[in-house]
Amino acid sequence: MAEKLALVGIGKIARDQHIPAIAGNPDWQLEAAVSRHAGVDGIDHFQTIDELLEKRPDITTVSLAIPPQPRFEYAAKALKAGKHVMLEKPPGQSLAECYALEALAREHGVTLFATWHSRYADSVPALKAFLAERTLKRLKITWKEDVRRWHPGQEWIWEPGGMGVFDPGINALSILTEVLPYPVHLTGATLEFPENRATPIAAGLTFADPVGAEMSADFDWRQEGPQTWDIDVETDRGAAKLSLGGEKLEIDGEPVIQGANHEYANLYVRMADLVKSGTSDVDLSPMIHVCDAFSLGRRVITDPFEF
Ligand code: NAP
Repeated sequence: MAEKLALVGIGKIARDQHIPAIAGNPDWQLEAAVSRHAGVDGIDHFQTIDELLEKRPDITTVSLAIPPQPRFEYAAKALKAGKHVMLEKPPGQSLAECYALEALAREHGVTLFATWHSRYADSVPALKAFLAERTLKRLKITWKEDVRRWHPGQEWIWEPGGMGVFDPGINALSILTEVLPYPVHLTGATLEFPENRATPIAAGLTFADPVGAEMSADFDWRQEGPQTWDIDVETDRGAAKLSLGGEKLEIDGEPVIQGANHEYANLYVRMADLVKSGTSDVDLSPMIHVCDAFSLGRRVITDPFEF
């Protein structure tokens, strides 16, 4: 029987991805929306999480598609009420919040899934398999997009906890931490903050790799025209290029994957498996790199940003 699910935050990602992915998966039945402004046709609508928890005790699972800043309070209430919880990325606005949610899920015997949608792109398992059998020499992440195009009017990304350019950049870091056969750590960062904003518009990162590979990431939100979401790797036996955020993979210049985007469909398949097996999936390694970038980063002030 399908699990009854409530979706919280009916914004861009809920409409673009969550609602179609839930509709396409027989393991889930979308029963309610929690939103301060919007509803979803044909299902219950509640203004607050408290109202949802009081009026629909039959709902087993809550999926949170709200920005990171308010997410902890919503997730903690749902977990304490015995609901399984799915978190959009990044899983919180601080690491300690995420550890606290993990502990609450354990205490209440429910599933917590800190999702990283980019890990579910078609190219990611293939790049992981490629790297598993080779020695890495160089890895370069280039994640450059136009913030006005992808985050129109979203003020929360410029507020503390919104992470600025790390909001997309953490997607690249979620792929990095999935495909590498070992952990790496950040050695330095330069963070460019618009003079009127609390979060960075661009960031350059360097990493230490245990086998000595050169590793860096370049995130920029000021790219107009063609958008770039690439990871280039060179190894002792050939090179690979992941592009379009993971939809495409070339090995030694030859296309091997030219996928479509199944990321959110795959996330809801994974969530159903976690609930069935009574387990959680909370990997905070992408978020650790972001927190380290804020800890190690040299701040540079740049031009003001307005939408
Ligand atoms: P959004 O459209 O700005 O916000 C989503 C919804 O969250 C809003 O429509 C609002 O819903 C609710 N919300 C906003 N501020 C809130 C607050 N302070 N308290 C409670 N609810 C609040 O953002 P989004 O682009 O969908 O992003 C949401 C999350 O998904 C972020 O963590 C983002 O990183 C992630 N994500 C976004 C994308 C993308 O392409 N946009 C892609 C992947 C992941 P109501 O008006 O319904 O209350």
